Amino acid sequence: MAKNGKVFLIGAGPGDPGLVTVRARELIEQADVIVYDYLANPKLLDWSRGDAERIYVGKSSGRHSIPQDEIEELLVDRASKGMKVVRLKGGDPFVFGRGGEEVSELETDQIDYEIVPGVTAALAAAAYAGIPLSHRDYSSSITFLTGHENPEKQTLSIDFRSYGKNTGTLCIYMGIGQLARIVSELQEGGMSGDMPVAIIEWATLNRQRSIQGTLNTITDDLERSGLGAPAIVVIGEVVAHRSKTEWFEGRPLFGKRIVVTRAREQAGQLSRMLEDNGAEVIELPFIKVEPSFDQKLLTEVLAGIAVYEWVIFTSANGVKTFFDLFYRAYDDIRCLGPMRIAAVGAATAREIEKHKLKVDLVPKKANAKALAKELIENEGVESVQVLVITGNQNREELVQSLETEARAIVDTLPLYQTSKTNLTNEPAAARYRAEGADAVLFTSSSTVKSFVEQRTALTLEKSARKPVYGSIGPMTSKTLQELDLPLGFEAPQSSLDHFVVETIAHLNQQA
Ligand code: SAH
Repeated sequence: MAKNGKVFLIGAGPGDPGLVTVRARELIEQADVIVYDYLANPKLLDWSRGDAERIYVGKSSGRHSIPQDEIEELLVDRASKGMKVVRLKGGDPFVFGRGGEEVSELETDQIDYEIVPGVTAALAAAAYAGIPLSHRDYSSSITFLTGHENPEKQTLSIDFRSYGKNTGTLCIYMGIGQLARIVSELQEGGMSGDMPVAIIEWATLNRQRSIQGTLNTITDDLERSGLGAPAIVVIGEVVAHRSKTEWFEGRPLFGKRIVVTRAREQAGQLSRMLEDNGAEVIELPFIKVEPSFDQKLLTEVLAGIAVYEWVIFTSANGVKTFFDLFYRAYDDIRCLGPMRIAAVGAATAREIEKHKLKVDLVPKKANAKALAKELIENEGVESVQVLVITGNQNREELVQSLETEARAIVDTLPLYQTSKTNLTNEPAAARYRAEGADAVLFTSSSTVKSFVEQRTALTLEKSARKPVYGSIGPMTSKTLQELDLPLGFEAPQSSLDHFVVETIAHLNQQA
């Protein structure tokens, strides 16, 4: 007998991936199939299994969304095949999300299901704009309304005049396109033109924008601001009691768009640091890093690993690849032997320390030259066996000075390879061309070189923001200058922390 499938109707929250439930995440991780909407953040799919089937059923430019009955058929089809089907819907599945229709179809077809609620857009938009939806003195009711039931229909589905005497808070979904009519119906129904109104677009994402006015002004305010869907309209006295600190929109990089050029596997940390400060990040991985090694050499080195007095790691990537391979060969950390360990910089050292290994030497300046110098001056490595674990680039200088200046016996074990990528057809590149950015951050010379080679494919449209170029340190800056790219700013020390602080300082000083 075929095992029974099941459909999980899950609220994907308003956008920020941090706002989904623990249950939602668990189910996304286990799903065989994920069927997701336009308003469900695609970043949530990063949690899914590599082999999970992902089906987008939302609208995209020039294309309408897949009809509701086809979506329902799809859910039934996959579940009947015994699959775990996650149906991800923006916000909460039962708030203007047609969740009810999907459930009744599942019941008709006798498919098991579970419903996981989500943070609905009105709650999220209010919180992220600092508007308390209820207040002991001003509002004791909260009403969720929709401007139109179906985004593809442009008619009001509610008689807003009947809400004209409402003394609580009104939260209107899908109301932007019909705002003028909503406003005039509310006034016809008796609502004062001075009633405060706020509109919040793309709530909880770093592209959130919001405006505030009154019933009298809001239609003009909206037009001037250029805000559009998706947005929530909040109407009520509470809007005037919005918190004074803009905890979300007031963060130092809020409203700034920043391009991170590192390889996809390495971009995460820098992207997160920028996002935590409010930036909208576009990841354009100009290089890719892949494991690449000579199996015979690897076997030899691993077999003799205990003979090395010093093992030098030149990057966090080298550390990761090395330990992956080491653990495949040995299941006891003591097989490493009594080696001493050096790392080129703090990030590399942190990666080593994850294995509960102490790093004996990290040079004050994070580069290979400084590392060689400190090893030679402080440790004396003459006739000492040294292993350098590295990639296919930028290793000559280190190896050469260890061999010629320090007269060490050096073995080099290249484990990965950095190569240029072609981003022409990436959606992120299309977004960069159309919207531009405030800054492009370079964390290595190789990303600068790849950026310059792809310049024509990345030509900005006229209306796009023109970025400044930021560099993590002197080597990267030198490459920028050699390739005629104007250097906007450089981190005072080569670390991600310093880079982010400098980016904040530079972009705010310009504003
Ligand atoms: N089920 C969803 C609502 C779907 S209807 C929920 O519970 O939130 C789609 C409407 O939701 C949009 O037109 C907009 O009014 C609102 N919406 C969804 N996400 C939003 C967001 N991040 N910011 C502002 N409004 C949002």
